[in-house]
Amino acid sequence: MRQLVIATKNEKKLHELKRYLKGVRAQIVSLKDFDKVPRIVENKKTFKGNAAKKALTISRFTKGLVLADDSGLSVKVLGGLPGVRSSRFAGPKKSDKDNNRKLLKLLESVPVSKRQAAFICAVAIADNDRIVKVIEEDCKGLIAFEASGRYGFGYDPLFLIPKYRKTFGRLGLKAKDKMSHRSKALKRARAFLRGYL
Ligand code: IMP
Repeated sequence: MRQLVIATKNEKKLHELKRYLKGVRAQIVSLKDFDKVPRIVENKKTFKGNAAKKALTISRFTKGLVLADDSGLSVKVLGGLPGVRSSRFAGPKKSDKDNNRKLLKLLESVPVSKRQAAFICAVAIADNDRIVKVIEEDCKGLIAFEASGRYGFGYDPLFLIPKYRKTFGRLGLKAKDKMSHRSKALKRARAFLRGYL
């Protein structure tokens, strides 16, 4: 069986991606299983660019099959911000709460009709130093006027799903799983890998 390296050191992310990739005939490991992993600066302008850079760099290092992802929030009226800077929107050492506060401040006088946003997830798969697949999916919603809910992470308390009139923070993980940018992208990655392997 081939090895599939998930390009992350984050145990939670590994766990989540493993769940989405059930049924893929590969031994799934993460960067935690390797020493002297090259440092990757996520400096591309797009989610796809960052995911591809990560997948290629790690595939060059392992000489095998690698899956990398990059995701974030894009707010229409802000020209796509926070975008690829989603995790460090309020500054390099700031928390999710700080990022949410900054976003709410920027949208203070923006009416509900102009608060459209999307979560975006790009997934890149590389094999032996070559990109074999790039996928991007989104999940559309609105930015709420205040944070609500205790589930999820990042911008979930502000991300409103109009159909349910609830944020991801209130909807919970099961509901989020059915429609999220990440689950949609990983579902396609799973289908690709099942054919590829
Ligand atoms: P990563 O690339 O998956 O580590 O995500 C980058 C950043 O995007 C996170 O730190 C969050 O701020 C934001 N983000 C990505 N996906 C989600 C999500 O599903 N909910 C809330 N925030 C998210």
